[in-house]
Amino acid sequence: MCIFCKIISKEEPSQIVFENDQVVAFYDINPKAPVHILVCPRKHIASMKDIDEQDGGVLVDMLLSAKKIAREQNIDEGYKLLFNVGRSGGQIIDHIHLHLMGGWQS
Ligand code: 5GP
Ligand code: ZN
Repeated sequence: MCIFCKIISKEEPSQIVFENDQVVAFYDINPKAPVHILVCPRKHIASMKDIDEQDGGVLVDMLLSAKKIAREQNIDEGYKLLFNVGRSGGQIIDHIHLHLMGGWQS
C-alpha cells in the first residue's frame, strides 16, 4: 500500500483537514507555502497520466473540495492549485494529489 493510501486509511498519522466519501485532505509534511494542503482521492490512482473518463467524478470532487477547504482555511482571496505529473514533472508520491497552496500576504 502506498504512503498516501496508508494516510487515507489512517494507518499512518497525518493532520487531516477535510474528508468526504471520495476525498481526504491533509497538511503537507514539508510545506512550501504558509498553508499547504494535499487533496487526495481515496481511490489509488498513481498519476494524472493514468486517469480516464470514469475518474471524472472524483476529479471534480477534488476541485470542489479544494475550493471548500480554501474558504475554511481563510485563504480563498488567492491560492495555487497544482498537480505534479511524472518524475520530471516533480511528482514524488505515486498517488495523485492536488496541492492547495496559499496564505501569502496580499
Ligand atoms: P509531489 O512532489 O509528489 O507532487 O508531492 C508530494 C508531497 O507530499 C510533497 O510536498 C511532500 O512534502 C509531501 N509528503 C511526502 N510524504 C508525506 C507524508 O508522509 N505525509 C505528508 N503529510 N506529506 C508528505
Ligand atoms: Zn495510494
